[in-house]
Amino acid sequence: VQEPSCHPVRVGAIRVGGPGLVVMAGPCAVESAEQILGVARAVKAAGAHMLRGGAYKPRTSPDSFQGLGRPGLELLVLARHETGLPVVTEVMDPRDVALVAQYANVLQIGARNMYNYPLLREVGQAGLPVLLKRGMSATMEEWLLAAEYIRAGGTDTILLCERGVRGTPSMARNVLDLGTMVLAKRQSGYPVVADPSHAAGRRDLVIPLACAAVAAGADALLVEVHPDPDRALSDGQQSLSPEQFVALMGRVRQLCRLAEPVVEGGE
Ligand code: PEP
Ligand code: MN
Repeated sequence: VQEPSCHPVRVGAIRVGGPGLVVMAGPCAVESAEQILGVARAVKAAGAHMLRGGAYKPRTSPDSFQGLGRPGLELLVLARHETGLPVVTEVMDPRDVALVAQYANVLQIGARNMYNYPLLREVGQAGLPVLLKRGMSATMEEWLLAAEYIRAGGTDTILLCERGVRGTPSMARNVLDLGTMVLAKRQSGYPVVADPSHAAGRRDLVIPLACAAVAAGADALLVEVHPDPDRALSDGQQSLSPEQFVALMGRVRQLCRLAEPVVEGGE
């Protein structure tokens, strides 16, 4: 069955929601120059189209690593200069939107902030595409209404990201809700991104969930990759090593066509 098409979102030369799958990959958090440059080169070489990485991290515990803040944004720009990969990074506070927008190519709203309406309005005014994660227990209606807040701010370049919802206790962290992902795209016309990493919560489930999402019609994947996952400062248990990411890309290529690769020296 052919799903109806959506309004593609342009990020530089990349089109999310066009004919080819877009892959966004990188660490949960930016930790150091060595870490982010290393992982940016690795995911680019494996065929990723965008670099993900958080400088502001919404951690469940206030005692956990909260991100590098502005220096982290500067490191993301360094990695973009070197690889040409556009950057997707999270903004958590309405007061930081203007700052983060100076560095990012796509602004990420995290699952914990899907109901933060002042933040949604603010990112809608920033003039950049927004990747809106579904809240951990949000209904589809709540998710699409959150997107409406962003649109009311002035942006209609929105990517809806399914990252798993809370289910019954299981071995996985969350339940990747692909039915809702498909319906959300059908109803809204926004391209959809699947995040198998936060859905899985464990490395060995990331490739199977990524494949399922692609088969179901995801327009893009958002995948956590770390040069040394066991030493990651956040979400190491679900982060792929660069070698495992190469394996993921191989599996995904068997299922669909990828979007055109990012050209060298691009911005
Ligand atoms: C993340 O992308 O690292 C993140 C914090 O995701 P979520 O908001 O989906 O938990
Ligand atoms: Mn994470």
